[in-house]
Amino acid sequence: MSDLTLAVDIGGTKFAAGLVEPDGQVVTAERAATPQGGDAETLWRTLTSLLDRLDVPAALAGVGVGCGGPMTWPEGEVSPLNMGGWRGFPLRGRLAARFPGVPVRIHNDAVCLAVAEHWCGAGRGSAAMLGMVVSTGVGGGLILGGRLIDGGTGNAGHIGHVVVDPEGPPCGCGGNGCLEAIARGPGLAAWALAQGWSPGDAATEGDLYREEGTATARRLAADAAAGDAIALAAMARAGRALGVAIASAVNLCDLDLVTVGGGLSQAGDLLFGPLEEALREHTRMEFAGRVRVVPAALGQDAGLVGAAALVIEGDRYWRPGL
Ligand SMILES: [Zn+2]
Repeated sequence: MSDLTLAVDIGGTKFAAGLVEPDGQVVTAERAATPQGGDAETLWRTLTSLLDRLDVPAALAGVGVGCGGPMTWPEGEVSPLNMGGWRGFPLRGRLAARFPGVPVRIHNDAVCLAVAEHWCGAGRGSAAMLGMVVSTGVGGGLILGGRLIDGGTGNAGHIGHVVVDPEGPPCGCGGNGCLEAIARGPGLAAWALAQGWSPGDAATEGDLYREEGTATARRLAADAAAGDAIALAAMARAGRALGVAIASAVNLCDLDLVTVGGGLSQAGDLLFGPLEEALREHTRMEFAGRVRVVPAALGQDAGLVGAAALVIEGDRYWRPGL
């Protein structure tokens, strides 16, 4: 039996698959753009052609998968929000049929990112950690007692739907004022546009940005770095919302560390400054004051590392008997 684990990372913009060594090193990886508007079998073929390119060994330690939610868990019938072709698609079952005799384990992609940071990244050694990702959505995974916490249905860690302003904007979940409604990249860009933001005007790469045609959090971050007042206000708005939500999580779960990854986290102090300020306002009890919030440490392979960890470090990141 090989000691390599096959890791799969399924997202709305790209599919990735790779082979991972027992220490978390990604030996080889392949990526492909997610077919937009593809039906179920088109999406599946995109994945299998990636696997064909990988030269997967005949014997594997197992298969770990991170996929956008929602999904039934641990059964792994997936219905990713931004992938309409898969509705109740039996992703875990299909992979188990292709790789018989080894464990096939699946979890939410944001959970896998949190697991990756805890195993090999900024969260190593932490007993009580929340791993967050802030991009098109806001997600997370929760580690308590050094173990991944699944919750009743595998959905623990949904920090994006912690309410930070009950009078706030509508959220994709149907509620109002969730962290995600305020801090997700597109929501933040929409807020800035409504305040009169003119994308790219203050950025040196302004012309390039205009060619891309859409307002994104990355442009917003670039404009904020260049001193645009509305873009700066948008970063502060997102940072404060993140700080308030993190404070609630810290008070509830007695956390010692929070990692923040995703596109918006690259805004640096423009985001983390207001975040820290709001966090300290709302973590007044002594135990909560010790929490540190740090940028995620792993790069583009983080999703694969976390998916592999479901197999390689199953004692910590997978529930026995599933
Ligand atoms: Zn929500």
